[in-house]
Amino acid sequence: MALKSFIDVPRDSHFPLENLPFGVFKTPNESNGRIGVALGEYVVDLAALGAKGLLEGPFDRDSLNEFLSLGRPAWRKVRTTLQKLLAVDTATLRDDVDLRERVFHRQRDVTMQLPVRIGDYTDFYSSYHHAHNVGTMLRGPENALMPNWKWLPVAYHGRASSIVVSGTDVRRPRGQTKAPDATAPTFGPSKSFDYELEMAFLIGPGNPLGQPVKIDNALDHIFGFVLMNDWSARDIQAWEYQPLGPFLAKNFATSISPWVVTLDALEPFRKSLPKQDPVPLDYLRAPNDVTFDIKLEATLQTASMKDRHVITRTNFQNLYWSIAQQLAHHTVNGCNLQPGDLLASGTISGATEDSRGCMLELTWRGANPLTLPNGESRKWLEDGDTLSITGWCEGDGYRVGFGEVTGKILPAA
Ligand code: MN
Repeated sequence: MALKSFIDVPRDSHFPLENLPFGVFKTPNESNGRIGVALGEYVVDLAALGAKGLLEGPFDRDSLNEFLSLGRPAWRKVRTTLQKLLAVDTATLRDDVDLRERVFHRQRDVTMQLPVRIGDYTDFYSSYHHAHNVGTMLRGPENALMPNWKWLPVAYHGRASSIVVSGTDVRRPRGQTKAPDATAPTFGPSKSFDYELEMAFLIGPGNPLGQPVKIDNALDHIFGFVLMNDWSARDIQAWEYQPLGPFLAKNFATSISPWVVTLDALEPFRKSLPKQDPVPLDYLRAPNDVTFDIKLEATLQTASMKDRHVITRTNFQNLYWSIAQQLAHHTVNGCNLQPGDLLASGTISGATEDSRGCMLELTWRGANPLTLPNGESRKWLEDGDTLSITGWCEGDGYRVGFGEVTGKILPAA
């Protein structure tokens, strides 16, 4: 049964009272962002509620970092207070016309910013099918997975400075590439521009240097999730990635959605983690480890095709490693995570062909181009293309959704 607010929330909205995702927004006349939650077509201004004494917390800020550092009891208290304040039978805000004027902004009238100042960003490689497909292309099916893959959640440290909020245009990068049969590399715009459908979670309080987070406590350190597109230049990647991993093929832009959906909002959509074989080492084992049933889609729109066309349909449950395992592994050597750090899943591909989460897999490195409804075809993304990713959990009479992360590709400068 859906909760009811005095604010009308359409049945298929991503942002019912059950969700209340956190973000940072700016109204047209103001220079500083502040914190709000999404409800239906509105942003609820938490700074305005704070000024009125109805809510306690660091909401008159242009990032969630300080709020994230407070930890789950504080996050939960705010969520519970908001759900009560916004409920259909609570009069405090409902019947105060002046206050409502200050507290509710239409989402279409505000600009969303990055929700956090991201200090560090890590990208995992946790989908079995993605790793297997990519490995098969590079090394053949016999050696598709590296020997470490089922023993530890493989990852690389990415770059935080080039993470941008949804809606930001993304420029095709230039770089060094080398065709397999060429004797020397050439320099120019990437010819194999790709997306990667991912999700990422934000770190709450974090841990001191030298003190690992035990897997049983890992979820206490996770505030919530965003959608992520890890834009990738495959030709640059192929030439540069050995032996130290991705570098310029990945760090020119990474897009995230503006609304952070809390673990509390995802609670009803918990699923048990599929069995892992081999059984992981002790520090990666939690008796009741969880994943989440989150439906995910990527759509492509081209300059000459107005409608969005779905090219990936997948689910968060396709990940082999859990977020608790990722976090426990990340800190097991004493590495310290800090409020606002972003840890991403890696491309989320499933077993079926339509669940592949990037062009590299969908077209099998360009061998089987996609045909779009208007007759255009794509081996890779082209200038003028817009790639969007959305995701949601289907509840009983409501949806807990993530909105979207979208970006349009501009020609190389
Ligand atoms: Mn990635």
